[in-house]
Amino acid sequence: MLLLGLESSCDDTAAALVRQMPGQRAQVLSSVVVGQTELHASFGGVVPEIAARAHAEKLDLCVEKALAEAELSLADVDGFAVTAGPGLIGGVLSGVMCAKGLSAATGKPLYGVNHLAGHALTPRLTNDVPYPYLMLLVSGGHCQFLLVHGPDRFERLGGTIDDAPGEAFDKVARLISLPQPGGPAIEQAAKAGDPKRFALPRPLLDRPDCDMSFSGLKTAVLRTRYKVIDEKGGLSVQDQADLAAGFQAAVTDVLAEKTRRALRKYLDHAPAVRSLCVAGGVAANKAIGHGLETVAREVDCAFIAPPLSLCTDNAAMIAFAAIEQSHLRGPDDLTLSARPRWPLDTRQPAMLGSGK
Ligand code: ATP
Ligand code: FE
Repeated sequence: MLLLGLESSCDDTAAALVRQMPGQRAQVLSSVVVGQTELHASFGGVVPEIAARAHAEKLDLCVEKALAEAELSLADVDGFAVTAGPGLIGGVLSGVMCAKGLSAATGKPLYGVNHLAGHALTPRLTNDVPYPYLMLLVSGGHCQFLLVHGPDRFERLGGTIDDAPGEAFDKVARLISLPQPGGPAIEQAAKAGDPKRFALPRPLLDRPDCDMSFSGLKTAVLRTRYKVIDEKGGLSVQDQADLAAGFQAAVTDVLAEKTRRALRKYLDHAPAVRSLCVAGGVAANKAIGHGLETVAREVDCAFIAPPLSLCTDNAAMIAFAAIEQSHLRGPDDLTLSARPRWPLDTRQPAMLGSGK
């Protein structure tokens, strides 16, 4: 099966071709991602209307480029997979309309995919990971532990009750005058910093569950920054580095400890779980990756971190998720609707037929 995937739920426009032959692991034949960072830079965040218009303008080009890179044409494709939610409604609609157009024009099937399912299934695109496995999704907009039982069955074990870690990295970078995206900037600055200089909190570690909170940590960085500025009249490069290192260490500690709890608890309930997988842009952070790998090793679990290009938003994961799910369900029809909210741990409504 060869699917053309489309992704446009946030600020990346993406198209990809993924093929799976029976009994073999799927292959990414091409994956094109066009970001919009400069378009939103002066606004300090993603502007939904600007994002939607940019997606509408770029989707056709991405499709053409993905086909050209794979040296294929629409005639070779077996169907179309598109993110149908969750995400910014304008962007999701752009993708869904484009995919419907392609499906109607070619008479080939259309599959609406949950964006989070795309992230959660990615480890099976890059590694031989059997179900069930534990997934920690840590990105700019999401943070949750999922027990992935199958292509359409996800059990949420816990997650953030406020900010996602990527969002916190971005906001903290802004607070200490580092550039966007904040994650890589903080990771770079932290290399020269002392993580112990400032005492920052490790929120919710007193609670036994797998829920997390990052908003208070961000406020603690803000307060510390004011204190340093009051005392010294400004923030030196070393102060920035120490704050970055302290913040990164706190996020790492929280993620590692909550992962330890998720693994221990669910190894008891589902002893077959032997893999800890990560996805989302924050998984690119070396300190966080190292912390999570250490925890996985403690309980003899494999640690799987797909390459960054497949961990951040991309369309290959959407095409692959549709291929995985196609074994369990038929395609959607042209009534497929965009769903800005679409929680993963409920039964996937698209499984029932039309994605309504
Ligand atoms: P979502 O996928 O949840 O809709 P998103 O598209 O913003 O959100 P991703 O593209 O997966 O998320 O990741 C982007 C986020 O990852 C940003 O918040 C960025 O700061 C963060 N990030 C990227 N690299 C690093 C890093 N090295 N360390 C920490 N955070 C990072
Ligand atoms: Fe995403």
